[in-house]
Amino acid sequence: MLVALSCAGAYAGPAHAQEDLPGAIKPACHAFSPIDTTYEELAADHAAWTCNSTHWKDPQPAGWLRFDANEWRGKGLPVMLVTRVTKFDRLSIFAVRHDGTTQALGLSPDEVTPRAGRAVFSAPLPPVNNDTVAVVVRVERPWNAAVLSDARLSTDPAAGDWPVTGLVMLGILAGMLFAPLIFDLALYAVLRQRFVLWHATLVMAMMGYVISFTGLIVLFADLDVVTLAKINGFTLALMVALAGFFLADFVEEDALTLRMRKALRLASLIALLVPGVVTLHPPFLDYRWHQLYFLGFLPALAIYIVAMVEALRRDSRAVKFIFAAWSPILLLGGERIVRGLGFYGAPSLIDELLYVALVLEVVISAMGVADRMMSLREQRDNARTRAQVLETLAEHDPLTGLLNRRAIEPRFPELCEEGFSTYALLDLDHFKAINDRYGHAVGDEVLRAVARGLSPDEDTLVMRLGGEEFLILLRGPHARARAEQRRQMLPRHIAQEVPGLDRLVTASMGLVEGPPAAMGASSFKELYSRADKLLYEAKQAGRNRTIGEKLTLFTAHDKERRSTERRKQDRRSSARAKPGRSESA
Ligand code: GH3
Ligand code: MG
Ligand code: MG
Repeated sequence: MLVALSCAGAYAGPAHAQEDLPGAIKPACHAFSPIDTTYEELAADHAAWTCNSTHWKDPQPAGWLRFDANEWRGKGLPVMLVTRVTKFDRLSIFAVRHDGTTQALGLSPDEVTPRAGRAVFSAPLPPVNNDTVAVVVRVERPWNAAVLSDARLSTDPAAGDWPVTGLVMLGILAGMLFAPLIFDLALYAVLRQRFVLWHATLVMAMMGYVISFTGLIVLFADLDVVTLAKINGFTLALMVALAGFFLADFVEEDALTLRMRKALRLASLIALLVPGVVTLHPPFLDYRWHQLYFLGFLPALAIYIVAMVEALRRDSRAVKFIFAAWSPILLLGGERIVRGLGFYGAPSLIDELLYVALVLEVVISAMGVADRMMSLREQRDNARTRAQVLETLAEHDPLTGLLNRRAIEPRFPELCEEGFSTYALLDLDHFKAINDRYGHAVGDEVLRAVARGLSPDEDTLVMRLGGEEFLILLRGPHARARAEQRRQMLPRHIAQEVPGLDRLVTASMGLVEGPPAAMGASSFKELYSRADKLLYEAKQAGRNRTIGEKLTLFTAHDKERRSTERRKQDRRSSARAKPGRSESA
């Protein structure tokens, strides 16, 4: 997104804001030459000079500028050179006198002064007076042609600095970037989405970019221009790359193809690695490789746009925020390219608008992040609700609404621990005859009536195990009596709820009760088969009755007790039924 800006800045030539600096003097002509060409040689070669503001790029290692005295007549004498921060080997400035003699000043990069305003530095001039006809500047091996195209002489020693109010404003802008950062971290704590981290790092890179490109950094760090050029170049590369990583993770799952996401990440990686490495001026690259800095951004620029268009066409809500967030920057970048082509000059205010655009970017994209988080949370909540509904469906019998076996069996050990120690298996008597005589629908009515009649409560769990077979699990006082009472009131209850039956529908019950420890020692299946056997006996004995049995922990022989206690965990094996049976009808 900022590639356009920097390309424009680098290639555009004289479109930079410094035209509007008070007392800024533009160069009249420029030239490029081999490294060992002297000023005298070049001055004699008129054809070597270009006297308009085009053709700033040349593979030659030395770039020259000539400022003519008639440009500053009436403005006062120039006091310094102001130009764009970049890496170069050496800067030489000549004051040319009327008689053709020169006075020269040579400066290395660490002898020039970074200014606390935009990414510019200033250099002193050799003495300039009314006898001076021209000032000639020679830059050796500049990494960025903007150091030539943007160079101005200034009659104002404060040129290149922001006014204090401007600095305060920029400080506030940089500070405003903290808010989304905190906001991101807070959001990440709630929903751990990777794009939130990308957004946070993007915001940090932007902070770095704003602090370095505005020159704010010069106020609190003593940096030379080469270091500053590295920081400028690197924060921009970082920003572009992080923007791509952010985009790839941020848009909805169906908004981009997997291939597009991969392409985005690859382009971002290239934007980080190629310009990121070039801008650090490694010893194996020289100034001619600086073209790579801009070329390295091109895949990112192209793919970001293609990806955004694709996501927009797929009606992605997230990308609309990104589009809104990035368009002020893109607009300003576009404006700068057009301006760079020399169609018109613009007030420098437009360049300062970039910082407003950056803040807009951060605010709008933070809104996008919040919006995306809301929809992700909604999705998550919906999924949870669906899962709960499914679970409820899976654990309930659709006919009666009672719990089913699946709801109880896996939790049976916990239920035993919670004191459910009476296990009553209840089966309707001659139910088939109801179905045969009145039809299945009436049979269903009877089953529903039974479910209501067994009236589950906190201490009485009732489930339908299948067909006309119900399980009652009880805890608390008089558990057995409560189960029996439920069984006994069923016929009257069914008769009330399903009128028209010609006989009472009774039920038989097989009941196992025991101390919770003994129950817990048995598995659900063991208890079921025991209760089922008792139920069968009840049916055999004439139906409409309960046969019960008490469980006890078997600890009979003292001799055995010691070894039993040694294997206390193995209680399962010592749970035995005591033949204390009872029958009620
Ligand atoms: P017993 O006293 O020996 O238990 O006799 P029974 O007729 O109750 O037992 P049996 O197992 O022979 O028949 C159970 C009947 O329950 C058979 C089946 O048609 C009926 N049944 C099972 N599930 C449902 C159901 O969901 N709705 C209805 N209406 N009937 C069901
Ligand atoms: Mg039955
Ligand atoms: Mg049955």
